[in-house]
Formats: sequence, structure tokens, C-alpha cells
Amino acid sequence: MLVVMKSHATAEQIAAVCAQIERLGLRPHPLPGAQRTAIGITGNQGEIDHSSLSELSGVTDVIRVSKPYKLVSRYVKEDDTIIHFPGTDITVGGRDLMIIAGPCSVETREQAYRTADAVASAGAQFFRGGAYKPRTSPYAFQGLGEEALLILSEIRERTGMRIVTEAIDQDALDLVADYADVIQIGARNMQNYSLLRAAGRKRKPVLLKRGMSATLEELLMAAEYIMSEGNYEVILCERGIRTFADHTRNTLDLSVVPAAQQLSHLPIVVDPSHGTGKRDKVLSMARAAVACGADGLIVEVHDQPDRALSDGAQSLYPEQFAQLMREARQIAAIVGRSLPGNARGQVAAQEEPVNA
Ligand code: PEP
Ligand code: MN
Repeated sequence: MLVVMKSHATAEQIAAVCAQIERLGLRPHPLPGAQRTAIGITGNQGEIDHSSLSELSGVTDVIRVSKPYKLVSRYVKEDDTIIHFPGTDITVGGRDLMIIAGPCSVETREQAYRTADAVASAGAQFFRGGAYKPRTSPYAFQGLGEEALLILSEIRERTGMRIVTEAIDQDALDLVADYADVIQIGARNMQNYSLLRAAGRKRKPVLLKRGMSATLEELLMAAEYIMSEGNYEVILCERGIRTFADHTRNTLDLSVVPAAQQLSHLPIVVDPSHGTGKRDKVLSMARAAVACGADGLIVEVHDQPDRALSDGAQSLYPEQFAQLMREARQIAAIVGRSLPGNARGQVAAQEEPVNA
């Protein structure tokens, strides 16, 4: 169910509708848009008697939403969701592309600092690095845990980049939400519904990666879990899916970008690193991702990929990442987007010619 407010509805009228929804034992989700505010309703198992809502002042319509996903849908919120990062001018989902770069895992302070300095100089605004790693083998490197989170916060201080890191379970989630700017939920956890709900109770944006065999609808339903708990700042991420093709680690499904943007107001970024698994394919797919309208990229970069403890084969050398940034900046301009850069990297990234 969706309550559509009149375009000039006041804050008091919106609050009165929310209060009435709560009196009905349901949960209101006010979603302001450029034209009007819509209030999504969740918590009902069946039909709601909506006469007590349609009569309230400021209400123009009460609509039944038949789609399984509601809050993620353009039907409920027509305008793109734009996420702001407090204390910065960084936005995600608007004109600027979100560029996240860094190693698969934080391995040592030195490795993380060297890589962070390199990607900051190339213009990245977000630094990634796993503190908790979901590894196929229980004997593989599992991440440094809280020690890595401390290193990541030092990097935020040092470079000004915002931090994106994965929470693999509820214990990690509490720590990640304290230290990071964006909580990553990995492909393997896309349908871990209790973790999604818990992330929905945090007040930090969530980067939600598509499960390796998930349909678009399943991805949107996973985002719906997060939003249904009141966290409306969800960034979708295409990171490749399992297919019969074996020339790459996964098959990067770029067609999901326009498909998701048609159905949902949420931003969607692309991970060409996990999407290909091969360093020499990352640049091509990053170019294509920007060209097809993705809202950003998440790219693995390591200062010594051959020594990486995880995902070295798909990690770019810093100079390859700098090249990717120069090209992405040019392609972004063609599709009406921009790469904002950062205080440290913007000038350098703009000055160097593409084929330098
Ligand atoms: C990662 O970002 O390092 C990662 C583990 O990604 P995914 O969940 O997409 O496999
Ligand atoms: Mn990785």
C-alpha cells in the first residue's frame, strides 16, 4: 500500500498520516520526491482498510502496490535516490559516479597505505578493503578483523576517502557500522535475511552485491529487506553471475544496469574485478559499465598484486587504475555523468592525457 501526498502537503500532514499508519499497527516509510512525498506502508499481511488514510488532509491517493518489492520500486519513488555523505560534498546516485577502489583484503598497514595513497592520487573517493573475508576455503586468509577496521579509519583520516568494507555476519556488522562509511553485504550473503534486516537497522548506506545466481527480482527483494527496516540508503552492485562461460570467473551482466534503473530508484554500481576475475579484462568492462549508465565502479587495486592474499589475479596495478580513471572520466562525460575526483587526485587525473 502506498499513500500519495499532494504536492504541497505540509510536514505536519505527512506526520499525521504516518501516525495513523502506526495506529493501524503498520510501518510508514515516507519517501520524499521532487514532485511529492509518497508514504510506503509495510507490515500488513493482507488488505488494509484504507478509508482512515484516504480521508486525511494532504492525501491525494491511496494505492495498492501489487509488485512484490515496494520501497525499492520507482512506482513508490519516481526520482533517483541520491545518497549524501555527511561532512563531504560526495553524492551517490546523482550526476557524479561513485568510484570505490582498493585491495580485496587489508593485509598489512603498509600494503593498505600504499594502495590507498595510489588510488587517492588517481581520484578515487571511496577506499575498499576487506576486514572480514568470505573465503571458499576455511584455510584461506580470513581477514584481519577489527585491526583492519582501525587501519581503514586511519586511511580515511590520511586521504579523506570514505571507507567501504564488508560485514559477513552480525558481529562484524556492528563493528563495520561503527568504523565504515558504507557497509558492504557480499554476494554470498545477499539472501541472508537476518543480516539484511540487521543492516536495515543501521544508519549507514549499504552496498548490496548481487548473489552469484540471483535474478534482478531477488536482488531487489534483498534491498527491500534492508529498506523495510528503515534504511533507505542502499546501493545495488552487479558483480557477475555464474553461467556456463568459463573464460572469466563470472559473467558480468551489464544489462542488469538499465533493467534495475528502470524498476528501481536505487543507484547501481558495477564490480568489473569480481565480474571478470582477470586483471586484463577489468579496464574493458569498467569502460562498458560507465558507458551503459552505471552509477559507479568498485575496483580491486593492489600495490603488489602477485603477493596479494586474496584476488591478486583480478587486482589492478596502481598505474592501471590511474588509466582506468582517465578513461572513465572521458566516457562519463559522453553519457552526461562526471567523475568528481578528490582534493588529492582531481587535478592530476584531469591533466594527464588518455594515452599517457
Ligand atoms: C569482495 O568484494 O571482495 C567480495 C568478496 O565480493 P563478492 O561478495 O562480490 O564476491
Ligand atoms: Mn575480492
